[in-house]
Amino acid sequence: MTALLKAELLRLVYLLCFFAVIGWLANLTVQFLFIAIAVYLGLHLRNLHKLHRWLKHNPQNYPPNVSGVWEDIAQSIYRLQKQEREAQQNLLGIIQRARESVAALDEAIVLVDSQGNLEWWNAAAEKLLGFKSATDNGKPITNLIRDPAFIEFFERGGGKDALKLPSWTQSNHYVQYEVTRFGTNDRLLIAYDITRLHQLEQIRKDFVANVSHELRTPLTVLSGYVETFVDNDEFPARINRVFAQMQQQTKRMSNLVNDLLLLSRLESDNIKPEAKPVNMTNLLEQLRQEALAYDPDKQHAIMVYVDSPLLLMGIENDLRSAFSNLITNAIKYTPACGAITIRWSHDDKYGYLSVQDNGIGIEQQHIPRLTERFYRVDAARSSATGGTGLGLAIVKHVLLQHQAILNIDSKANVGSTFSCIFPKNLLVEKI
Ligand code: ADP
Repeated sequence: MTALLKAELLRLVYLLCFFAVIGWLANLTVQFLFIAIAVYLGLHLRNLHKLHRWLKHNPQNYPPNVSGVWEDIAQSIYRLQKQEREAQQNLLGIIQRARESVAALDEAIVLVDSQGNLEWWNAAAEKLLGFKSATDNGKPITNLIRDPAFIEFFERGGGKDALKLPSWTQSNHYVQYEVTRFGTNDRLLIAYDITRLHQLEQIRKDFVANVSHELRTPLTVLSGYVETFVDNDEFPARINRVFAQMQQQTKRMSNLVNDLLLLSRLESDNIKPEAKPVNMTNLLEQLRQEALAYDPDKQHAIMVYVDSPLLLMGIENDLRSAFSNLITNAIKYTPACGAITIRWSHDDKYGYLSVQDNGIGIEQQHIPRLTERFYRVDAARSSATGGTGLGLAIVKHVLLQHQAILNIDSKANVGSTFSCIFPKNLLVEKI
């Protein structure tokens, strides 16, 4: 039993004894005992009333003057309330500081509720995205940023890669968007001004494109001359070897220049050629002929299977470059008498173009970096095979333009399968 309860019981016992003695003297013990209980109850009711009035009208004030067990209860309530008020104050302080720091950020931060309506945003969002607190609060975000790419990105809830778009409030500005889900489908949108980064990227692209373009003419002239001197009976064998090497190197350089030009074109924001239905049977047959002629000395068995009658909507020349890169890689990185299988197929969700070989394969740690420009597993071997280091970067860009992805499955010394996975909406029936 707690000390508080003991003290309260003692109070009751003293009161009863006191009234019992007076009642005994007056010969009215029972009646006096009733009076004692009534007095006790009355005292409790009075305290209860005081406590109730305090809690109802001004609970933040010091508690009223109550006695017995009530005093302790009132003090406990008062203490709890004080702690709660302090905790609330602290929390408000933290929220205020968080708001102030978010408001001071250069990045636009926007809170969007589960219905897709604007809930809160910082000052940077007003500047970067043009939201106005007076009119835009509670509006659907997709009514304000109407770019279809943004709407698709936002409704998907963002993704691994951020979305880059021209700014809709300032011309010649670029904005990068990221979306994070939290709570019950609420979303946090973060937007940055990436104009400077975009300009630098553009300078890099223009520089590479211009240099490659300028190199093309002198290279054509050089390789033209070298061609006329190769295998010339008038020169001694030593000079012929020099010319053969010059021819090989100029060929490598022009491959490099052509690949760089192709990559620049794929990356450029200029108008893209229109997608048309591509007959995969015809395309793969052409690629098979090219593959047979690529390195006949190796005597690979090159098999082509067209398991799907569907056509692929796309840009035929770009698709040809991408598939051709995968096939020439398979030939290059497979020792003589290997087997190379090229297959076009589809299922309920995707179309697949796969190139499988039983060549040298690739160790796992290299796979994530293979599509980077100039990334080579083994630089010496790649240059020996005449590679530019740009083949898979070209494949990645072509696939990106077709909303497709590249899947690489490979095991060292066993072989590799490179699969281009196209979304179903690009597959069409033959008319
Ligand atoms: P490269 O011009 O060097 O072939 P790519 O971008 O086409 O450049 O390929 C990058 C690297 O990936 C190559 O250097 C090679 O090491 C590796 N690779 C690509 N395809 C295959 C393959 N089928 N088998 C083994 N390794 C491959």
